[in-house]
Amino acid sequence: MPVNRDYYEILGVPRGASDEQIKKAFRRLAFQYHPDHNREADAEEKFKELNEAYEVLSDAEKRASYDRYGQVATSDLFGFENFNFGGLGDIFDAFFGGATTSARRRAPQKGADLQARLNLSFEEAVFGTNKEFEIWRTENCSLCYGIGSQPGTNPQKCPNCNGIGEVRRIQQSLFGRFVQTTTCPRCHGQGTIIAQPCPKCKGSGREKVKRKLTVTIPPGIDETYRMRLSNEGEAGIYGGPPGDIYITFSTKAHKLFERRGIDILYKLSINFAQAALGNDVEVPTLDGKTILKIPPGTQSGKVFHIKGKGVLRLSSKGRGDQIVIIQVVTPQTLDDEQRRLFEELAKTLPQAKIPEYEDKGIVDQIKSAFGDD
Ligand SMILES: [Zn+2]
Ligand SMILES: [Zn+2]
Repeated sequence: MPVNRDYYEILGVPRGASDEQIKKAFRRLAFQYHPDHNREADAEEKFKELNEAYEVLSDAEKRASYDRYGQVATSDLFGFENFNFGGLGDIFDAFFGGATTSARRRAPQKGADLQARLNLSFEEAVFGTNKEFEIWRTENCSLCYGIGSQPGTNPQKCPNCNGIGEVRRIQQSLFGRFVQTTTCPRCHGQGTIIAQPCPKCKGSGREKVKRKLTVTIPPGIDETYRMRLSNEGEAGIYGGPPGDIYITFSTKAHKLFERRGIDILYKLSINFAQAALGNDVEVPTLDGKTILKIPPGTQSGKVFHIKGKGVLRLSSKGRGDQIVIIQVVTPQTLDDEQRRLFEELAKTLPQAKIPEYEDKGIVDQIKSAFGDD
């Protein structure tokens, strides 16, 4: 709960406002913003703000503390963490008359979502797979079906709240009494208590179980992909639906290939003679070996595409390519015969030429480049 807003500003009163001014301002604004008749989106927030401001400024001690320190310890504000309009309705009724009667049980809540991370091989990510995995999750107790009482017995009406799930408390304030409604502390709003707890779940109605699940992973996924398994998360609370499981993936590197989106990269090393003369070279792909035609005069760094040997497209039909990058390997050791042949060959090959400098020396060139002639 933020405590840094100016309470006087919220109520639109001057700092030295009298108790009567504060009360009047609150009544006027509370009426204007009460969510029962103000349907604007921020009315509820505004109404909470007004109540917080009023709660502090209408209490001499809290107001003095606020004037001095600019804030009030959150613990001094009653129940604002568990703010509900049941309670507000009662404050409102105390001011404006009228009566709201209600039995507010805890609303059904969706169970918590869980996360799982699955490791896939390179091929599993490319072609898709069915993957089994285990996960711990909270489920409704299998013995009492989530009721919490020993099978054959039933939960009983809570004697503290008489089954309503909430209790009313009379509050004494400067302006008289008003009633605050809070969730029953005995049954936590359930309206029932467990007299004979289920031996398996000790009355909680829930148990942690390890489940084995299977998920069908589509072809073409990568580490940015996220899957949702609906209703496979933690059990819901107060009759709510279960949560979901979100799955993320990590993929192992391949010893030959690299992913580039839907294309697969492969580096092919060829020798000097293959590059110069051309050659049909056997190349591995994800679907087995294929022949790649290397034309004569191929340079290191040249790229070839083998169509349709890449990754299956996730969103549409078809596959990416295998991209082959050529690396011409210079021999590092030569036997006598190879050395003789290279030397023979070298006599016929053009030598690399050093480009000739212009008349100006290198220092002059730099000078003229900076306009410093
Ligand atoms: Zn149980
Ligand atoms: Zn109760």
